[in-house]
Amino acid sequence: MHHPWSSLISFLSEITRKNCDSIICCTHCGNRHTYVKWGFYSRYLFDDELINIQRFRCDNDLCPRKTFSILPHALLPIMRASLCMLMYILKMYEQRNSIAGIARHTGSNWTRIQRLIAKAISIRDWIKQEYGSTSACLSASKQWTYFTREFSWVFYPDR
Ligand SMILES: [Zn+2]
Repeated sequence: MHHPWSSLISFLSEITRKNCDSIICCTHCGNRHTYVKWGFYSRYLFDDELINIQRFRCDNDLCPRKTFSILPHALLPIMRASLCMLMYILKMYEQRNSIAGIARHTGSNWTRIQRLIAKAISIRDWIKQEYGSTSACLSASKQWTYFTREFSWVFYPDR
């Protein structure tokens, strides 16, 4: 049976696995020369598989934060859903599917879908304003690091 949601999940997990080694520079100060590998942390892919994300320690004396990691596209900071997944859900919602219907389609629940829709709307508004783009799925992996950093600043300023 054709199931666009599960195809999307497999596709996103696959490209994220492939994007795991992108260009490394400190996400706080931009330093690309003096850093050391500094352990790992685990994140779930969209298909619920765990992957290790390398953490680095920045050795720039002036750096405000000291440790950083480079998230592979399509992982977002903190959030479990990707941009594509959020926009997929938002599109279903705007095509007048019920929240219960979207929850069934995506194997999720009402509360989570309602939360994701609200989040998707604010993220889409921000992307439109900030990047002048109507398509929220930014795929250029070189820019992904900058994008995820700004995303964190805007949506998770305390983390
Ligand atoms: Zn730094």
